[in-house]
Amino acid sequence: MSDILIRKAAVVVTMNTARDEIAGGDVLIRGGVVAAVGQGLAVPAGAEVVEAAGCVVSPGLVNTHHHLFQTLTRAVPGGQDALLFGWLKTLYPIWSRFGPDEVFVSAQVGLAELALSGCTLTSDHLYLFPNGARLDDTIAAAAEVGLRFHPTRGAMSIGASSGGLPPDALVEAEAAILNDMVRVVDAFHDPRPGAMVRVGLAPCSPFSVSRALMRETAVLARDKRVRLHTHLAENDEDVAYSLAQFGCRPGQYAEDLGWVGEDVWHAHCVKLDAAEIGLFARTATGVAHCPCSNCRLGSGIAPVRAMRDAGVRVGLGVDGSASNDAGNLAAEMRQAMLLQRVSLGADAMSAREALEIATLGGAQVLGRDDCGSLAPGRRADLAVWDVSGLETAGAWDPVAALVLCGPPRVRDLFVEGRPVVRGGQITTLDLPRVIERQVRLARTLAA
Ligand SMILES: [Zn+2]
Repeated sequence: MSDILIRKAAVVVTMNTARDEIAGGDVLIRGGVVAAVGQGLAVPAGAEVVEAAGCVVSPGLVNTHHHLFQTLTRAVPGGQDALLFGWLKTLYPIWSRFGPDEVFVSAQVGLAELALSGCTLTSDHLYLFPNGARLDDTIAAAAEVGLRFHPTRGAMSIGASSGGLPPDALVEAEAAILNDMVRVVDAFHDPRPGAMVRVGLAPCSPFSVSRALMRETAVLARDKRVRLHTHLAENDEDVAYSLAQFGCRPGQYAEDLGWVGEDVWHAHCVKLDAAEIGLFARTATGVAHCPCSNCRLGSGIAPVRAMRDAGVRVGLGVDGSASNDAGNLAAEMRQAMLLQRVSLGADAMSAREALEIATLGGAQVLGRDDCGSLAPGRRADLAVWDVSGLETAGAWDPVAALVLCGPPRVRDLFVEGRPVVRGGQITTLDLPRVIERQVRLARTLAA
């Protein structure tokens, strides 16, 4: 792979320790890694030059929560206006008809959508495996699209007949779940710096698995040195379920079962109280903040300002496309900023803080100290945003404009130094053909 020099950007946003922003900046990529960042870098022999005049270059955005399979159930009638539990009950029967093709194609679509919104690293939470679907199907899709991927092996084990929310047909036996968790970690997890795939373990939620499975999964994750992920304190119904079934709030539930620590991140956390925020800060537990999904399901406004002030690590997530229903991570960055402002005032979150949460914050939540900033030695995951067009015409501050005038689409996207988007087009997929397959699958499901 030859060197790539991205040259003369309007601004390079480094997200390095000093948060340097370099006007007229260059970034040199060599061997999948950022080799140099600065002004007027020399063009190495044989290097490809990417002119970036009129562009902001930033670290790639990091998505910390998604259910890629849900791109096949966007805007489903009956689920459009429901709260979390009613929404799930509408969708479970549809998802039970999925198989490997549905999981693979929906992941291709979701990953392409993320890439075009500037995302270079995404996690995914796949928690149902009907009709032979496997985590392997999403990993194959990510390899094809070219995004750095943290799939998590989810699970549901408590069906409706045992007091859980999902139908019995969608739950698995706990022994089989644990066996498959071991299989996918051994087959796919790469702990090395620069890894393109890292596997996490992720029982779906307190209302769909047993406490025993939560505890055993935590033990297994620590044995295998992989990360833990689940949904927590998403809305009032979720907290009420915890109080009624477990006699405690979600934070206590997580702590009792070994689900706090540097290697754990929880999605949503809309309803964390002050004591729970303190617990997360003390234990370095991470949060995937999903602002559009929280709005869409009427869940509430997550206390992100209080979390950040307390030192909690926070990243952004688009959440599944059945509750968003977009998978545009740049839009989440803007929504995160707006939501804190509508609840706390215009100085509650700056555009630059939202960009930091979307890049460096997400990388920290996923344990990737090799990603999330543009500094020598970091992985070459970066987004080139054209700010010379209509949406930003007249903007005085191109970096703030990414968020305030957003959501923008990327012009170019590089992951591990490889182009995934060039000139606003995905380079790794025949996108029209993928969309056609997706539409056909969605029609069959609807019929
Ligand atoms: Zn979710």
